Amino acid sequence: MISKMELYIHIPFCIRKCAYCDFLSFPAGEERKRAYVEALREEIGGAAERGDVTTIFLGGGTPSVLSGEEIGILMETVRSHYRVLPGAEISLEANPGTLTAEKLAAWREAGINRLSIGLQSADNRELRTLGRIHTWEEFLEGYRMARKAGFENINIDLMSALPGQSSRTWRETLLKVTALEPEHISAYSLIVEEGTPFYEKYGEDARRREEGLACSWLPSEEEERQMYYDTKGILGEKGYGRYEISNYARKGYECRHNCGYWRRESYRGFGLGASSLVEEVRFKNTSCMEEYLGRDFSRREEERLSKEAQMEEFMFLGLRLAEGISTEEFCRKFGCAYAEVYGKVTKELLAKKLLCQENQRIFLTEQGIDVSNYVIAEFLF
Ligand code: SF4
Repeated sequence: MISKMELYIHIPFCIRKCAYCDFLSFPAGEERKRAYVEALREEIGGAAERGDVTTIFLGGGTPSVLSGEEIGILMETVRSHYRVLPGAEISLEANPGTLTAEKLAAWREAGINRLSIGLQSADNRELRTLGRIHTWEEFLEGYRMARKAGFENINIDLMSALPGQSSRTWRETLLKVTALEPEHISAYSLIVEEGTPFYEKYGEDARRREEGLACSWLPSEEEERQMYYDTKGILGEKGYGRYEISNYARKGYECRHNCGYWRRESYRGFGLGASSLVEEVRFKNTSCMEEYLGRDFSRREEERLSKEAQMEEFMFLGLRLAEGISTEEFCRKFGCAYAEVYGKVTKELLAKKLLCQENQRIFLTEQGIDVSNYVIAEFLF
């Protein structure tokens, strides 16, 4: 029996597919949503892994396309099979185009205590380019309704390096959003993923940017870096600390669920394509809706992680956090000295000023964050 664990529940439905999105999500009718919720309830009820639940995250897709009642039923199912610890963080991802006062009240009633709203940009032209279903004004209305419904822990998701975006419009987005005083802000750079409409349109530009060449639509690498510095600068001035490469929070509002991923705590994922890490075994659910609705909950891509794989994950996930990794914890977890395994590479990266070491913790420097992919790759065997 696992003592403590996190739960993730995947809701793969969206009103309409955004032009840049490669997540496992698609539009669906009411009947299909109902059938999916029923299948989810069976999967949760039949899961073998049990433990006290510290956090729950309803992600997607767009969980907010479900009704208040459906979210209530899901939470009831979880509570009847798991002990959800008092004070557990329970998050729900919401699209601003789907919020209503009724839904928000029902989610609060169901125990949801953290709302993560996908805004992406405060500029309506950029929102149209992204193919989002909402405007800035609709987001504002939803945000105010959420506060009124009693949500005291709200994240706003933002996205920089968008086609046609300038440093000015990005700064405006940051200023407009911080003026609302959410507790948490996630700010990711757009990645142009293969298989999306964006890839057809901007794939060539993305390749040029990687090579440091001029782009026609996307901001250049230099502009993108400037946006990152502006993010850190503006959010820092407004009282948000960067606790992970792309995540900022007021003190005490860091997302506990995501910190659990980065610290490699056990989590169990339910729903279509959901991944799990339970006692050093990683596995996935089927990504085929027909199989899932047919109650095929068998584990896919199951892998018991070797000690080396665990060490790699410890490093590349831990280094994403501003606090970095603890060499003492490494030693406790793996039964060998940190220096024995990573001494040489750490020394090299410290000399290049890409890493910093303080009180037996190792973390990325500002320079290291700029080339984090390179630094993190150095820790792979
Ligand atoms: S709302 Fe989110 S999950 Fe749905 S299509 Fe848009 S980006 Fe993807």
